[in-house]
Amino acid sequence: MGLFVYKFGGTSVGSVERIKAVAEKVKKVHDQGEQLVIVVSAMSGETNRLIALANEIQKYPNSREMDVLLSTGEQVTTSLLSMALHELGCPACSYTGGQVKILTDSSHTKARIINIDDKRMREDLTAGRVVVVAGFQGVDDKGNITTLGRGGSDTTAVALAAALKADECCIFTDVDGVYTTDPRVEPNARRLEKITFEEMLEMASLGSKVLQIRSVEFAGKYNVPLRVLSSFTEGKGTLITYEDDQMEQALISGIAFNRDEAKLTITGVPDLPGVAYKILGPIADANIEVDMIIQNIAGDETTDFTFTVHRNDYEKAKELLDSICAELGAKAVTGDVKIVKISIVGVGMRSHAGIASTMFKALADEGINIRMISTSEIKISVVVDEKYLELAVRALHSAFELDREPVES
Ligand code: ADP
Ligand code: ASP
Ligand code: MG
Repeated sequence: MGLFVYKFGGTSVGSVERIKAVAEKVKKVHDQGEQLVIVVSAMSGETNRLIALANEIQKYPNSREMDVLLSTGEQVTTSLLSMALHELGCPACSYTGGQVKILTDSSHTKARIINIDDKRMREDLTAGRVVVVAGFQGVDDKGNITTLGRGGSDTTAVALAAALKADECCIFTDVDGVYTTDPRVEPNARRLEKITFEEMLEMASLGSKVLQIRSVEFAGKYNVPLRVLSSFTEGKGTLITYEDDQMEQALISGIAFNRDEAKLTITGVPDLPGVAYKILGPIADANIEVDMIIQNIAGDETTDFTFTVHRNDYEKAKELLDSICAELGAKAVTGDVKIVKISIVGVGMRSHAGIASTMFKALADEGINIRMISTSEIKISVVVDEKYLELAVRALHSAFELDREPVES
């Protein structure tokens, strides 16, 4: 007999029919004698609907109040799933994050899990009940409701699996695994049997929202066997695991992209020590995260400085940069929100030269202009105009032959 944590995402619990189908699936496994903790998301679209309601009242609502609001979405699905299980004669009990209890810090809307008390869940499991827990939420040490950031139910599931030392954490979603790239953009994308934690973490950080970044971090850190599979079809899905000799020896495992970034440039900055600090210091002080950075020295002892930020922070960053520009006696500030970052990811890159040139050639052949480049040991990212997203992803997918199974080495 094993213990499993299953997580069902928004689409998987998007209607009463789908909740009933999830209950059937859960009952079947429970009847085989397995112990099950089920984590559910809000019904698809619900979290967005709640955010829109809040924004009808305030542009920047208080984040504590936001958490009280947003956590309701998940509470609805836990009770409905529990009822659907009762209807099938399967004993089940629903809990909010606070009841379980999932203790977090107090960073509302992006809280981090500090501790999980597994006592209550263990009692239910021992009594033969399915435990249904609301994803995406917890409680701080003062009893305030917190949420874990968009996509946070993945992290709830992995954290519960770690706390309970579950045999596996299964993330059931609307795709049947992790693909070489988002199958909505490249229909030739191929499902991966396995992917390393390291690669999955890069893919998630670079924009593949199939798993929340923190859930992958957590699984890697606490050695939680993690699998992504479909709610709707049978199959083995994709196992996220440590690197081993048996793994597919592809140079590139996948392509990630991020539509959420915006680019800012300050031109004609006097090229003196401390300039980068003077530009990025106020941006950091305003709590704005900077991603890629490029500095180019011109012949006339000035420099152009370009960086990217989250699109939501663009307006604020632009305002700050305008005043920095005046202070530094720089020439101008320009910005662009219609950009995307596309990244190729793979541990195989470490031991191979020529990956960057294959990438740049594929983009050049399609006439796609690269605006920024950044590299690390296992990824290369480029910023291109938003209108080229699909074309670029498909060109790279085919240049690296990702639609084909890698040859055994
Ligand atoms: P859920 O609501 O179940 O949490 P998400 O929408 O968060 O589901 O994640 C699943 C979606 O992630 C898929 O529908 C797919 O479009 C997208 N996705 C992005 N990159 C990938 C990838 N590399 N492999 C699989 N799915 C991906
Ligand atoms: N409902 C939350 C969201 O839409 C959390 C989740 O689904 O994982 O982001
Ligand atoms: Mg998700």
